[in-house]
Amino acid sequence: MADNKLYDILGVSRTASDGEIKKQYRKLAKEFHPDKNPEAGDKFKEISYAYEILSDPKKRSTYDKVGLKGMQEGAHDGFGADDMFSHIFGGGLFGSMFGGGGGGMRRKQRSEDTIHPLKVTLEDMYNGKTSKLQLSKNVICATCGGKGSKSGHTEKCHTCNGCGLKVTYRQIAPGMTQQMQTRCPQCQGEGEIIKEKDRCPTCRGKKVCNETKIIEVHIDKGMRENQKIFFRGEGDQQPDVEPGDVVIILQQKPHERFQRNDDDLHVKHTISLTEALCGFTFVLHHLDGRDILIRQPAGEVIKPGDVKAVIGEGMPHYKNPFEKGNLYVTFEIKFPESHFTNETNLKALETLLPPRTPFVMPEGDHVEEVNLEDFDPSDRGSHSGARGEAYASDDEDQMHGSGIQCAHQ
Ligand SMILES: [Zn+2]
Ligand SMILES: [Zn+2]
Repeated sequence: MADNKLYDILGVSRTASDGEIKKQYRKLAKEFHPDKNPEAGDKFKEISYAYEILSDPKKRSTYDKVGLKGMQEGAHDGFGADDMFSHIFGGGLFGSMFGGGGGGMRRKQRSEDTIHPLKVTLEDMYNGKTSKLQLSKNVICATCGGKGSKSGHTEKCHTCNGCGLKVTYRQIAPGMTQQMQTRCPQCQGEGEIIKEKDRCPTCRGKKVCNETKIIEVHIDKGMRENQKIFFRGEGDQQPDVEPGDVVIILQQKPHERFQRNDDDLHVKHTISLTEALCGFTFVLHHLDGRDILIRQPAGEVIKPGDVKAVIGEGMPHYKNPFEKGNLYVTFEIKFPESHFTNETNLKALETLLPPRTPFVMPEGDHVEEVNLEDFDPSDRGSHSGARGEAYASDDEDQMHGSGIQCAHQ
């Protein structure tokens, strides 16, 4: 049974003349143009495709002989080098026509997503925010409806004979050539060209126009670094291709006080030795502008590097912002400077602190007193020399102690 689908789509008979086909196509294209009839996008593409085949005598006769399926197989076998076929068939616009049944239409060819990083503050991620982002994107030209020409006509590209591909042969070894396909430079792979005079004045034959669009990005409470926000179908438009998405990727600017780890917040806080021993009170300015009071009663000692948690003062959970992570405070302790007080006071202080471990001088005369010097870790050069000396004296000791160890070295 002959495949009649494309004739059915245009509503013409198999014997229709070129004029009838064109007339019917114009009528349907008007009716189903996506601008007037956004729901009928696929229908419009089917009509365009049917016309594409039936208006071309060569393609029409191939279709009459082998039908859509035959053309598709031909394309897949690499014979019908017309990549228009593989675009549409591969993408499945006509998938449902081949009795694939169930599962409905597969997705058609889709252009790439547009990715935009968006820098946000930790405050924005805590409180939520709506950011306005200006996008520049290609939209189908409204003047020509994406045809690119005033008349609606396009001409087959003569360089590539309408296939959009340029085939070149490259010799890779004597007697062996490799076939390479590149995009036709004349028509940029479109397979068709528009006469200079017939070009749409708005898009100058490019079929698309550049448009600036403002999108509102809603940063929800608790959103995270690298979280993606999708704007479906807001990517660049081009004729016969489903536009991709605009994807916003959140990037958190470093915060001067808080570090985030999942939904927990970490903050460093420096207290004095007196506060570490005797308790403290301080106010922390939170990400939502609240001042929270953190109090440590006298009696509990904070050591350098101690971490304390404030439960429920971390980041809000995404989609459940009334639940929050925890806030962890890591304490650094500022000790007093040397000679901060006199010896009398130090003696008095010592009576208040826990008693020291009593010092007992070892028996005999082998104890040698050394100097304890200030050490600057950044000044390593001079100290490595001193260390070398220390090792040398170790070796000397070993030589005196054991001849065997010495021989091993
Ligand atoms: Zn071409
Ligand atoms: Zn135009």
